[in-house]
Amino acid sequence: MNLVKTWDQLEELQPAVLKMLKNSLLKERVAHAYLLEGIRGTGKKEIALLITKALFCESLIEGFKPCEACHNCRRINSGNHPDVHKVEPDGLSIKKQQIQDLQEEFSKKGVESSRKVYMISDADKMSVSAANSLLKFLEEPNSQTTAFLLSEQPQQLLPTILSRCQILSFKPLSPLAMINQLTENGVNPMKAPLLAQLTNNLDEAYELNVDDWFAQAQKIVLKLYEVLRKNPLEAMVTLQGDWFSHFKEKEQINRGLDLLLLIFKDLLYIQLDKQEQIVFKAESDRLRRYALETSGRRLSDQMSAILEAKRKLAANMNPQLMMEELVLKLQEGSSFV
Ligand SMILES: [Zn+2]
Repeated sequence: MNLVKTWDQLEELQPAVLKMLKNSLLKERVAHAYLLEGIRGTGKKEIALLITKALFCESLIEGFKPCEACHNCRRINSGNHPDVHKVEPDGLSIKKQQIQDLQEEFSKKGVESSRKVYMISDADKMSVSAANSLLKFLEEPNSQTTAFLLSEQPQQLLPTILSRCQILSFKPLSPLAMINQLTENGVNPMKAPLLAQLTNNLDEAYELNVDDWFAQAQKIVLKLYEVLRKNPLEAMVTLQGDWFSHFKEKEQINRGLDLLLLIFKDLLYIQLDKQEQIVFKAESDRLRRYALETSGRRLSDQMSAILEAKRKLAANMNPQLMMEELVLKLQEGSSFV
């Protein structure tokens, strides 16, 4: 997952952050220290790297975009520019010695110019003594030095460090940006839309993608839909058998209801001729057939019934009763009843 991303690609992920940085670069008002904070998979490392290149690039495009081709850009991409330093946790924490080594490195003149950049990943994992060393460093800013502190848990950083950084908040990704990230990193394009609909956390999406329980859950939910459609009298049997033996914990039942809701949503999208919005891509042929057999009115009643069931589950209604009630409601208006 060490893909180098261009300015335009990263702008799609974090438009607000890049707009801010673009202005700073154009006005030559780059801060001495930035804190890039947000959940994993939101582009913090990539953007720190991008801005580092913008600071060293020999032929900037439009005055702020790194060219990705010059000697400096290429050396930063391959991780061996002498004036760019990276610090990562050594085991569970970032130790005082690591910060001291960094400071020693910075007391020397820039190897090639007076500009220097350092990047501290998981900055919240600094030990107290490491953080205090860094603090001294941040207190005597050198105009040619830029620090990027990256963190998923900024609340664990010393307030004195926070107050010396310009804070850049990274937003969770939009569903479209999620889909692009997932497919660029090897997730089957047929599966990515469903994952992006269920979570905006890339890590969780990667986990779901290889999770057997989740794969099985999708099959059972589709089966429940098919039974409801073909033979509603059997729906209770499916519920007692497959459904309850798979969806046990409250969280699992909620996931099952989300999947069921997405089937109805897909059917509605098909009816509205918005096929590109379907998330059960692999099932699109049969979903298109089913969409012909029902009405938009009925689909929206069924979706309301599922949302109501989710509310009852959240309010601790007995899951067995809640599901039986839901199945009866989903059958209303069926030609079999
Ligand atoms: Zn360049």
